[in-house]
Formats: sequence, C-alpha cells, structure tokens
Amino acid sequence: MASSKSFSIQCASTDRWSLSFRLLYLGRGLPSKVSIFMWRLLRRLLPFPDTLQRFGFSMPSVCPFCRRDSASLDHCLLSCASVQDVWIYFADIFALSRAVASSIRSQCHSWWLLAPARSATMFYAQLLPCLILWFLWKAYNVCLHEGTAFSPAGSIHMIKREAFLISLSHPIKKSGGNGDFLVSAGLVTGFAAPLQRTTIWVKWLHPPEGRLKLNTDAIFSDAGAAGGACVRGSRGQLIVGLCFRFEASSAMEAETLSLQLAVQWCAAFAMAPFAVEVDSLSLANLISAHDTRIPWRIEPAVSYVRSTLSLWGSSIRHIYREANHVADALATAGLGFNTSKIFILYTHCLLRLSWPYFLM
Ligand SMILES: [Zn+2]
Repeated sequence: MASSKSFSIQCASTDRWSLSFRLLYLGRGLPSKVSIFMWRLLRRLLPFPDTLQRFGFSMPSVCPFCRRDSASLDHCLLSCASVQDVWIYFADIFALSRAVASSIRSQCHSWWLLAPARSATMFYAQLLPCLILWFLWKAYNVCLHEGTAFSPAGSIHMIKREAFLISLSHPIKKSGGNGDFLVSAGLVTGFAAPLQRTTIWVKWLHPPEGRLKLNTDAIFSDAGAAGGACVRGSRGQLIVGLCFRFEASSAMEAETLSLQLAVQWCAAFAMAPFAVEVDSLSLANLISAHDTRIPWRIEPAVSYVRSTLSLWGSSIRHIYREANHVADALATAGLGFNTSKIFILYTHCLLRLSWPYFLM
C-alpha cells in the first residue's frame, strides 16, 4: 500500500473535485469563512431540506425566496427565479452565458475556466461565484428564519462591496487580458503596479591601473573551516592566491578569520589593496559600520581589519558570490590541506580553478 502522503496526492490528482478544491484552497483573497462554506457546499453538507432528508430529517421544503418551488441546494442557490437576477447581473459583467447550469458545481466550473490563468479576470472569476453563493446562503437563512422578503439588489450590493474590499486587501496585477471592466463595474478599486525587473550584471571588475584588489571567502562545513583569498592587479592578473586553515565555530567567524589572515598577509608583504571584496554582506556591513555591535568572538579580527583598511585608505564592499569565484575556489581547496598555502602564479593554482574564472 502506498504511504499516506503519496496516497493523498494520488487521490487529489484523480478526484473529480480536484479543480474545485485546488481553486478554493490556493485562491488568494478568498476569506476563510467563504472557503469553508464552499467546501461544505460542494460536499453537499449544508442543511438544505434535500440534504437533511438523506439523514432521516424532514423540514418545511418551500423555497423562502420564491415561496413556490421546493427548497433544495441547487434550487435555492442557483436555479430559483429570484436568485437568477443575481447570477445574471454578474454573468453580464463577465460576458458569460446567462444560461443556468445543471448544478452548482457546473456553474462554478464555467466561471473558474473562464479566463487565462493568473490574469486579473481569472482572479475575480474564481472569487465571484464563491461570494455569490456565500451571500445567497446568508440571504436564504435570513429569509427562512426571519420571514423577510429576498432582495436581489441587496445581495448584489453586498457581493460587490465584498469584492471591492478584497481588491483593497489583495491588490493584484493586471497581467494578461483586459481587466478594466472590473473597475468600471465597481468590483475592483484598481490594480497593483507591475514589478519592475532590473538586470544586474554580476562580474568581477578590475581595479584601476596600478592598484590591487583583494577578494576573500571562507567555507564552513562538517569537514572543517578554511579560507581563500586572492590579490589581483588592474589587468586581472593574479598576484597571489592564499589558502588558510583555521578553527571556526560559525560561517561568520570563518569569513572574518579569512579576511583577517588575508589582510595580515598583505600587510606583511607591503601590499595595500585599493579595495577589498567579500561575498558576506553581514561581514562587509560589520567592517564598514563603526556603530554596529560586534560579536565578542570576532571582535579582535574586525578591529584589526578596520584599523588596517583605514591605514591603507582602502574600502570594503560586498559582491555576489558569482563574482567571487577565485576566492571561493581557493577556500574550498583549502579544506584539502593541513596548512595554509600560497600560490604566486596561475599555473601554480589548483586544477579545479578552471580558466573562465581567470578571465573575470
Ligand atoms: Zn425559489
């Protein structure tokens, strides 16, 4: 027998209700009370006379809307002449057929399959039949228990108001199709502004002529901690590549120790990089912002780096990991050594540093 998880997935994919429940559970903006109501309605668990008869209960079965026909779920919420005014009003807005479907489920599906997925029209075509049924159900109970007359105009007003409030709390983008009719019909207040897509080129940039740039990175894993660093010139040539081995208790500590050791090495060999780059945004912020509280474990390393960069007149900045490949690869390679290593030329570097990295 399949596990309970796979059994559930298989059932959901083959269940004839899957479309209904997928829309109900995944649809944004549908109030939870309406979602639960729809689940009960589509399972025919609402206390209409025809439903109660299945459980052996009998109750007056005259439709409280038209007071002529028998009250049943499909009649009172769909095919009753009195509630047809409500369905037709909204069908006209969406240019749907006025014809009454054979069942509530068929009626809902004709709405839910109306428009392209992820369009504003689709969002409201999924929402509206649920709201119509919910407010008709509320009206049914008021007419039944309070004996008042049904007002299609009153229900239409409440449905439009609910849709309008949902458009305020869940503004959606007008992607695909023409959704302007929703605004003119008073169902929607407006649409969310489309997302602005920007393209960021991630690339290691050469330092100015005659200047050096230091990149550092670290790796922290079950196999231990190691750091990598490289100093490159204005033509992108490698001046030195470094691998460090050290003990660290966190990724942040490893990143900081790698940076400290690289700066110490540069200071020892009288190299003053024009700029320092790390792919840890937290570390770059920690070094740059002097009013930030520093974790005690890395405080000495941070203070040393700050004072040395200040002495050099250098700056530190964050770069994306994709532009920090050489330091990243050196850090990874460092895990394979017992001690720190120095590489002076590209040809001395490890074979796993493939050539495209050197052209960056
Ligand atoms: Zn009726």
